[in-house]
Amino acid sequence: MVRPDPSELPEVIDLTAREAASYLEGIADRPVRDARADDVAATFGGPLPEDGVGAVRAMEELVAGLDGAVHSAGPKFFHFVDGGTTPAALGADWLATTLDQNPGAWVSSPLAGRLEQVSIDWLKELFGLPQAWGGVLTTGATMANFVALACARRWCLSRAGVDVDEVGLAAAPPITVLGGGYTHPSDVKALGMLGVGRGRVRKLARDEVGRVDLDAMKTALRELDGAPAIVIGSAGEVNAGDFDPLADMAELAERHGAWFHVDGAFGLFAALSPRTALLVEGVDRADSVIADGHKWLNVPYENGFAFVRDPALLPAVFGSGAAYLPDIDEPQPNWGYRGPEMSRRARAFPIWATLRAYGRAGHRAIVEHDLDLAQELAATVDAAPDLERLAEVQLNIVCFRYRPPDSEDGPELDELNRRIGEEALLDGRVFFGATTYGGRVAFRPALVNWRTRSEDVDLVPQVVRELGARLAARVEGVPG
Ligand SMILES: *Cc1c(COP(=O)(O)O)cnc(C)c1O
Repeated sequence: MVRPDPSELPEVIDLTAREAASYLEGIADRPVRDARADDVAATFGGPLPEDGVGAVRAMEELVAGLDGAVHSAGPKFFHFVDGGTTPAALGADWLATTLDQNPGAWVSSPLAGRLEQVSIDWLKELFGLPQAWGGVLTTGATMANFVALACARRWCLSRAGVDVDEVGLAAAPPITVLGGGYTHPSDVKALGMLGVGRGRVRKLARDEVGRVDLDAMKTALRELDGAPAIVIGSAGEVNAGDFDPLADMAELAERHGAWFHVDGAFGLFAALSPRTALLVEGVDRADSVIADGHKWLNVPYENGFAFVRDPALLPAVFGSGAAYLPDIDEPQPNWGYRGPEMSRRARAFPIWATLRAYGRAGHRAIVEHDLDLAQELAATVDAAPDLERLAEVQLNIVCFRYRPPDSEDGPELDELNRRIGEEALLDGRVFFGATTYGGRVAFRPALVNWRTRSEDVDLVPQVVRELGARLAARVEGVPG
């Protein structure tokens, strides 16, 4: 029988460090996805072993399966809006695992508890949010939306005389949620998990792209006449990186007594550059704001942040207690009382480290580097006779499609672009996804990785044009 033994550690640590270094050294030059990825993933499995192989053997097997991964930490991954990991964040995240700290209770780790406070304070400074606000680290933007909207739920219903966290939703009036067409599905999901109801979300869009209809929102709020309401603003829409008019929405929410929540999972980082800060103007008038760490901050998964204007709401919603647990009124933060999990990972380590290592200027430079690359890509698209850009590039996403000269707008062109999107993901030289934007199938490469270079971005139009020319011959109705 093999049991864990301290003597395994030196070789495990050495092997891991060696493999990690050689993996990261080569990541810029390898394809994002190996053609055999699914097959390699399938080599793992079988029944639970009765006798183990020991730590080193297990690690060797894991390392032998790296081709089953998608190399999203590298510079050529533009799918979703997923960033990489800065060297400082990587080192600190390893250390967090090594120390295995639990900032759920201050007593179990003053260091992790303190770093979470410092990280939240620094992030508020980074984004220009008032220092008086509360905040907490979460596993990502979905859970950050959950935290923020749980606070919204409490606030809305307490104004209606119901302590929802005590008596539950059965005694509560419904909450109406108003957003534009950009409202992210994770906000809707969070509202479902909270029992507010996915079906209570009204997306008020004035066009097929999804731009918010402020007049309709004004009318809806007037008709609600003070009934519980949440307004959701989108700071960074996922197809083209557009923004809702946050200041106008803040104004409306304030005037009608609604909670104003802003989902800025990646778009909140617009605040870092004077070139884009205008896009998030008004965000400091929100009641809650969220962003992701594992997107544009370039820290590893799972890392997101929720900020709430009234810090007392977090313990009111997420507080807990028992004879063996810390008191809720302790002056030192017990982070398990401010978010969904009790025991939790020391997520602040990589945040603190990357902000300490590179500072505000270094992270502004990451954002501006990606802004520049997005403009470069837009210019390449504009110069190509067979590519068509579908939206203005305000931030870090370029929304465009393949369109051979003389081809007609319509279902055949959509079908061609859908196939290019599927093939591109299998091709693996560079990674980006397809979407539907304003009713048209399009690509939406999103630039968030600190490592990305011009030559990586150039691969996108290159691959689209190459696959497009090949596939057009096979799609009827599109001149090849
Ligand atoms: C990515 C994203 C989310 C969800 O974030 P996760 O970290 O995947 O949970 C929510 N909102 C927006 C706008 C996003 O871009």
